[in-house]
Amino acid sequence: MRLSQFFMPVLKETPSGAEIVSHQLMLRAGLVRQSAAGIYSWLPLGLRVLQKIEAIIREEQNKAGAIELLMPTIQPAEIWRESGRYDDYGKEMLRITDRHDRELLYGPTNEELITQIFRDSVKSYKDCPRTLYHIQWKFRDEIRPRFGVMRGREFLMKDAYSFDLSKEEARKSYQKMFISYLRTFERLGLKAIPMQADTGPIGGDLSHEFIILADTGESEVFCHKALLEKSALDTTIDFDDDLSPMMEQWTSHYAATEEMHDATRFEKEVASADQISARGIEVGHIFYFGEKYTKAMKCEVQGPDGKLVTLHGGSYGIGVSRLLGAIIEASHDEDGIIWPNSVAPFDVGIINLKPGDEATDSMCQQFYKALQDHGLDCLLDDTKERPGGKFKTMDLIGLPTQIIVGPKGLKNGIVEIKSRKTGMRQELETKELDIVTAITALTNKGL
Ligand code: ATP
Ligand code: MG
Repeated sequence: MRLSQFFMPVLKETPSGAEIVSHQLMLRAGLVRQSAAGIYSWLPLGLRVLQKIEAIIREEQNKAGAIELLMPTIQPAEIWRESGRYDDYGKEMLRITDRHDRELLYGPTNEELITQIFRDSVKSYKDCPRTLYHIQWKFRDEIRPRFGVMRGREFLMKDAYSFDLSKEEARKSYQKMFISYLRTFERLGLKAIPMQADTGPIGGDLSHEFIILADTGESEVFCHKALLEKSALDTTIDFDDDLSPMMEQWTSHYAATEEMHDATRFEKEVASADQISARGIEVGHIFYFGEKYTKAMKCEVQGPDGKLVTLHGGSYGIGVSRLLGAIIEASHDEDGIIWPNSVAPFDVGIINLKPGDEATDSMCQQFYKALQDHGLDCLLDDTKERPGGKFKTMDLIGLPTQIIVGPKGLKNGIVEIKSRKTGMRQELETKELDIVTAITALTNKGL
């Protein structure tokens, strides 16, 4: 993409009213614009990141055996009456009446709709278990939308729903999502810690929130330090294997949200030097709820013995749009965003210091073409802006690697490469330039 032809309205000043750094940077870097309180338009740069996050989530869901579908944003009120949640949900639910006076709503979540679909389509135990998911916009009329996309009213969620014949089977479905979430967040460059969360009236130990530690987080959390060091990516996981040992590794250390926190246990189990109490951002939440919806909505199948079995359900959410804010909170400096490679809107930014200068234009074009040919997305700043402004903008939008090309350097046969994360600069001689090797070294893309 050539910046001169792109749409990337960056702001020089920090906009007033944006309280936390991720919100400020999202506005300044031209990722989003507010349309109404808690409702945002996704500008091209922000959309590219959102789509990259979505793609990683989708890949990991599919690997774990979940199957994608797409449900609408608008749902009929009846199914919510069937489950008994229509009145409970209160003012957070945006209720709509159509021209025939039919009651509709903008879905805040999809347990009812998916249960209806499953119930009406599946009749036999042979078609279980299944985990279905979609990535779709939700609306919750939050009392206090704030922090930009972190607590919006309209927001993008990945929500999966499992249907199993028994609690034991449901536990396996839960474990798959648990491990899949760890891998997803790690690929997004995040340290998300699974913490025991409130299971409400169902009880048991099958609810976890996935939390990113950050001072600006809205949740208070408590955990063992060891959880910060763990990685879920080093082993090849077969999701058909027994995942219990891996679950055990992740759940044996103390980690709990405020609602579940047991101070006495915390003090006893975690040596004080290893205890962390911190603020956190909830980026995912998984939940086993047994027969809560399936019973009320008669979601049952015929078992092997011919008797009807009420299915056991679970739901598994990831805050896709919230993740942009969370990633920026976790990865920025005073100059702007530092995108992890996996979600950066472009892999490389090329700065042309003197558009119009023949040698400079031609070298930029060579880079642009060679990198694109090797599957790297490039943003070429070919605008007439002063060099100082170009450097600032490139740092602000946080692309992992910058290539700086100007007539002075070229006279000596040199261009400069800069890593956004480390600030490290490296001069490269253009005459023996092996473009691909140079970029590979910096982006770690393994071309
Ligand atoms: P919270 O406690 O933050 O209000 P929740 O527990 O109500 O969230 P869930 O129903 O568990 O949210 O939704 C799944 C995920 O969707 C959450 O883990 C979070 O990442 C995301 N999410 C929930 N509410 C919002 C919101 N208002 N704006 C952006 N993302 C949200
Ligand atoms: Mg939650």
